[in-house]
Amino acid sequence: MRFSPERLRIPDQRMKPFIDPEEIWDLIKNTKPDKQRVREVISKSIDKNRLTLEETAVLVNSIGTDLGEEIKQGAKELKEKVYGNRIVLFAPLYVGNRCTNNCQYCGFRTSNMDAIRKTLSDEELIHEVEALEDNGQKRLILVYGEHPEYSPEFIANNVKLVYQVKKGHGEIRRVNINAAPLSIEGFRTVGESGIGTYQIFQETYYPDAYKLYHLGGKKKDFEWRLTALDRAQEAGIDDVGIGALFGLYDWRFEVLGLVRHTNHLEACYDVGPHTISFPRIKDALSLNIDDKFQTSDEDFRKLVPILRLAVPYTGMILTAREAPDVRREVMKYGVSQIDGGTKLELGSYSDSQNEVQNLNREQFKISDSRSLSDVIDELLTNDYVPSFCTSCYRMGRTGEHFMEFSVPGFIKRFCTPNALLTLSEYICDYATESVAEKGWKAIEKNLQKLDPGVLQTTREKIERIKKGERDLYF
Ligand code: SAM
Ligand code: SF4
Repeated sequence: MRFSPERLRIPDQRMKPFIDPEEIWDLIKNTKPDKQRVREVISKSIDKNRLTLEETAVLVNSIGTDLGEEIKQGAKELKEKVYGNRIVLFAPLYVGNRCTNNCQYCGFRTSNMDAIRKTLSDEELIHEVEALEDNGQKRLILVYGEHPEYSPEFIANNVKLVYQVKKGHGEIRRVNINAAPLSIEGFRTVGESGIGTYQIFQETYYPDAYKLYHLGGKKKDFEWRLTALDRAQEAGIDDVGIGALFGLYDWRFEVLGLVRHTNHLEACYDVGPHTISFPRIKDALSLNIDDKFQTSDEDFRKLVPILRLAVPYTGMILTAREAPDVRREVMKYGVSQIDGGTKLELGSYSDSQNEVQNLNREQFKISDSRSLSDVIDELLTNDYVPSFCTSCYRMGRTGEHFMEFSVPGFIKRFCTPNALLTLSEYICDYATESVAEKGWKAIEKNLQKLDPGVLQTTREKIERIKKGERDLYF
């Protein structure tokens, strides 16, 4: 895919830094949000075009005017038009909290002497995966601190092990990673183990704030982190996830930083990020950050629709850091993936004694600790289709977010039927009676949206699932 070039002060070059703070601040300070311009920008996005930095600044600056509501409506329209009502579910699995860095917002940081350090053994990892499979999970993200113990080989072995764990009808079909930036060689090793997305959050795109909060270890190096996903691309991982940790610096700057990162990846590798994450800082053991830039619920509700409009083709991830009511609301504006049944404490999926939140072993506190079943129940009640689909990645259709976005009919031919098939599996294997009842109704309703040929084959596959076959997909 080719995107029109933009006039940027730092030309994009592979593995070279690309953030110019002055450029971003100039745009924030000097872009005027007049009504007509805002409307033009919204329509450009609804017509499925990624916004430029300047256009994103127009939206950011219209916050606080009565145009905020139009931005939300635009994001909602884009989501409904492009993605429909599917929400993909996943769970994070913390493998190890040893860390040589000293990020002032994180409970795993090296100076936190109260943290109880742990790395799951192979046996413990297997137990965790079995427990997650028993709940119905099919997609995991493995999470690590940054430590020599978590070498590319170690991570790759974990990934291979996770794919081998099968319990009953349970299996993990997609393993994503959130771990430290690696060298090209390291990314290659991890990539070869068959991962889905490699996620790395820049935390803050503003170098001075970055310096303030990253006081030790390799993570101190802003540029090593900024260019990490370039190295992943060089190593053949074309499925990468970016993110900013909201609360370290002005949220408007971070939104533009994420867009700048997106257009850098497009310019250098012809492919934007697979996902964008926008975590907000949550309470953690010995949290040490200034709350000057804390992102309020109100600002958070504004920035999600802006991100949706700014990069209309990308997946947007919303995690259990957020409380159910916030999740419920911002989901409408274009979120495509959420976690469900999340536990952050190491070993707590399989060991119920660890279930009580214990900040000594957690990275931070989550605000949505509902079970996967409860999350699915709510999604169904609100007319979403929960999906565990992993088809594109396994069929070699990488860049699926771009395909579902740009290929006419792709969603009706692939995404919706696959969502309904994976939901059928979930109902047959794991659902409570009431979730099953709601689920079958949702399946019937959404089948009606399919074209006759696909409808017939999907119905046949659902019947085969009811008879015990698994992993049927398009
Ligand atoms: N250690 C690796 C790293 O720093 O990139 C990967 C995993 S880290 C455990 C995952 C992400 O959690 C970080 O990138 C950061 O954005 C987020 N995080 C850290 N502390 C947090 C907090 N107190 N509240 C919310 N998110 C936090
Ligand atoms: Fe370590 Fe990552 Fe936490 Fe920083 S955010 S202290 S690198 S685990």
